[in-house]
Amino acid sequence: MAEYFEPFPGTRGDELGNFNKAYRTQPHRGSDWSGNGGKVIKAITTGRVKEVFETSALGHCLIQATADGHYILYAHMKAKSSRKVGEMLIGGETAVGAVGNTGTSTTGAHLHCGFSTKPKPHLAAFEDLVDLHAHIDANKAA
Ligand SMILES: [Zn+2]
Repeated sequence: MAEYFEPFPGTRGDELGNFNKAYRTQPHRGSDWSGNGGKVIKAITTGRVKEVFETSALGHCLIQATADGHYILYAHMKAKSSRKVGEMLIGGETAVGAVGNTGTSTTGAHLHCGFSTKPKPHLAAFEDLVDLHAHIDANKAA
């Protein structure tokens, strides 16, 4: 049983239409937390780093594989994560990176997370994405 944590004490960004297939003109392909730039993002659950990369839209990203067969994308981070591929991140403890505003698909500092059973949540079909806020609530650490 994998335990899940909030990435930081912050606000879930419901104002952004979280995980919504019909938000504005396009789907919102994940879940957001608002937070000041620079706030430390802790691993949402325990699992190894799968990828560290950057895209023009999503900025500095890290993908973590989880113990229950999912993949978490952490996006728009302030800088390249210092975590290495294969490194074990401990849920609620290990710092993944810092909240930022990198990439063209963000309009203010926040954490965007994609969540899927597919290894690349940012490329997965919407139907293969999972609501991370709901998954955290259902698997909350005691
Ligand atoms: Zn988002």
